Amino acid sequence: MALHLRHLADGQWEQIETKVYKTEGAGTGFKDIVRRQLLGPETSGTSFELRYFEIAAGGYSSLEIHAHTHTVIIARGRGTAILGDRAVLVGANDVCHIGPGEAHQFLADREAALGFYCLVHKDRDRPRAPTDEELERLRGIPELARVLRV
Ligand code: MN
Repeated sequence: MALHLRHLADGQWEQIETKVYKTEGAGTGFKDIVRRQLLGPETSGTSFELRYFEIAAGGYSSLEIHAHTHTVIIARGRGTAILGDRAVLVGANDVCHIGPGEAHQFLADREAALGFYCLVHKDRDRPRAPTDEELERLRGIPELARVLRV
């Protein structure tokens, strides 16, 4: 079904409401993040969902792990992404992919919100927090230890 979601202003579209992001069982901390569901089975009839997340300056998403994969396209701002065993600086139009079972987290810079699109399959497992053992291993990687937040 054809759809046109007109962009109004930074991270806002016609007919799209803002929802407070929930961890839904991930059990890890997050701060100052909102979600907008742009496309999905109910509206576009697609087997994937396209979401837009925006993390306020200084905020961060949950550090989480799941079996499904994400594709993330940064839309605005700057920040850091933990992608598996790496931490990378990200900015507009960067593309990130997270494979099955890879820990990941997105952190906005202190001065700028970080907005990004996220593509996922409609049928997916729930995110979970890293186990104590997994967290200990991640904290043993210096470039992650400096940035990760739980
Ligand atoms: Mn995730």
